[in-house]
Amino acid sequence: MVLDDLGSSLRGTLNDLRGKSRIDEDDVGEVVKQIQRALLQADVEVGLVMELSDSIEQRALSEDPPAGTTARDHVLKIVYEELVELVGESTELPLEPQTIMLAGLQGSGKTTTAAKMAWWFSKKGLRPAVIQTDTFRPGAYDQAKQMCERAEVEFYGDPDGDDPVEIAREGMEATEDADVRIVDTAGRHALEEDLIDEIEEIEATVAPDVSLLVLDAAIGQGAKDQAREFERSVGIEGVVITKLDGTAKGGGALTAVNETDSSIAFLGTGETVKDIERFEPSGFISRLLG
Ligand code: GDP
Repeated sequence: MVLDDLGSSLRGTLNDLRGKSRIDEDDVGEVVKQIQRALLQADVEVGLVMELSDSIEQRALSEDPPAGTTARDHVLKIVYEELVELVGESTELPLEPQTIMLAGLQGSGKTTTAAKMAWWFSKKGLRPAVIQTDTFRPGAYDQAKQMCERAEVEFYGDPDGDDPVEIAREGMEATEDADVRIVDTAGRHALEEDLIDEIEEIEATVAPDVSLLVLDAAIGQGAKDQAREFERSVGIEGVVITKLDGTAKGGGALTAVNETDSSIAFLGTGETVKDIERFEPSGFISRLLG
């Protein structure tokens, strides 16, 4: 990691350590304070921030810098390693045939993400298809269809259908030639019982290899309940954080990652099909701290 990836105040603090041969408790305390401030502002849960601070403090004060490494560079390395530990590595998504199901509340960005992911897989040389099972939100069908046309990927949906499980079943049959099936599900405003029943039935029908929870970057600590509920009902292997082109930094989604013992798969950075990035720890860390 380069120093430029860190927020400016943290960068300044670390620069002040330049030339020091030993780093004392006050120095480490100052570094940790800056990190805490930035992460809390980015909506990272306080418990996670505390765990991270403790690890950095403990390591920075007990580990000796290897020969040839300055004390400051050693602290920088510890900070980076611990931040990577906090945000995790990206969710493994082999470039091979698979079925991916998207879960999340209405408005989180599922439909948009389904088309974006299909576009992403098509650029990797695979043949994706989107199956739209959201019969609850008016406009979901048209929106998904249009986005898939723009992404030039296969799309299955039924504008007149009212049974999402039936649509899922038909969609799996209709897209047999596709390599990567991305199944969009209905969200609701809250985690109602029937939403959970429905997604469980869709899961049983499409037997996804991977289920991803889609979260708006602005989610904050509301992520916890959602993550727990979806993890309990369908099992979550990864998280997609959308709307990172806005002001929210997405730290709340780390609560969901922690709760589901999963990792981050993709980031959404805009409204068009191309506005998707594979999650990568250092870029996300600089966003969190910046
Ligand atoms: P769903 O109800 O979960 O399927 O959510 P949608 O995919 O319909 O997204 C809800 C709104 O958020 C739509 O207006 C999308 O255009 C918008 N949206 C989704 N992802 C992003 C993103 O990464 N950035 C921005 N700026 N808007 C997004």
